Amino acid sequence: MPVKNIIKIKSVKTVKGNEIQLFSTESLQSFDKTLLYIGVVHGDEQAGEFLVYKLIDEVKKNFELINNNRILFIPLLNPDGKALDIRGNFNGVDLNRNFPTKNWEKSENIDKYYSGPSPGSEIETRFVIDIIEYYKPDLIITLHTPYRVINYDGPAQDIAKLISDFNNYPVQEEIGYPTPGSFGTYAGIERNIPTITLELPEDVDQNILWEENRKALIELLKY
Ligand SMILES: [Zn+2]
Repeated sequence: MPVKNIIKIKSVKTVKGNEIQLFSTESLQSFDKTLLYIGVVHGDEQAGEFLVYKLIDEVKKNFELINNNRILFIPLLNPDGKALDIRGNFNGVDLNRNFPTKNWEKSENIDKYYSGPSPGSEIETRFVIDIIEYYKPDLIITLHTPYRVINYDGPAQDIAKLISDFNNYPVQEEIGYPTPGSFGTYAGIERNIPTITLELPEDVDQNILWEENRKALIELLKY
C-alpha cells in the first residue's frame, strides 16, 4: 500500500515543557532510504521550521515525491531557544557543540558556543542521537542561518553540489572555524552519514527562502 500520511512518531518535553516532535511518512513494510530534516538547532535561526513544515505540506500533497523512501522531520529541535530568541537552549547550551564527538571540548557557560557540562547532556541533543541510532538515516539535512552557504560533513559533496545547482548557494566543506562537538562531526565525520548544513541567508522573507530552496529540498526527497 502506498504511503499516504505523515504522522508524529516521537516527542519529548524540553526543560521548559515545550514539545520537540518527530514526524514521519507512514511506515512501509520496506523502504529504500531514510532521510532526516532538522530545523532550528539554534533558537535564533528560525527560518528552518517554516521550510520543514512547507516541505511536509508538499509531501502531503504528492507522496510520489518521496519515491520509496522514509522521510523524517524535526521542524523545531530547539523550542526553548526559539521562545527566548537565543542561540542555545534554555540552559544556554549551543546544541551544535553538545554532541558526543571525539573532539568535544568543555567551554565556559558564558561562551556563545557553550558546549554544556558534558557531551550529550541536553534533552535536545539526546533526542537527535536516539533518532539516528534507531532510524539510521542515510542522509541528514539541517537548516541554519545566516551564511547562505551549503556546508557538508561526511560523504555529501555530490549532494551539496546538487543543492547548489538548484539554489545557487556556494558549497563549502569547512565553515571556517573549529566546531568541536558539532552535529556535522557526530553524524557526518564520525558516523559517515551524508550530512548537509544548509545555511540560509538572514533577513530574507521566509516565503522567499522557501521559493529559493523548494526545488532542492524536494529533489533530495528522492535520494
Ligand atoms: Zn546555526
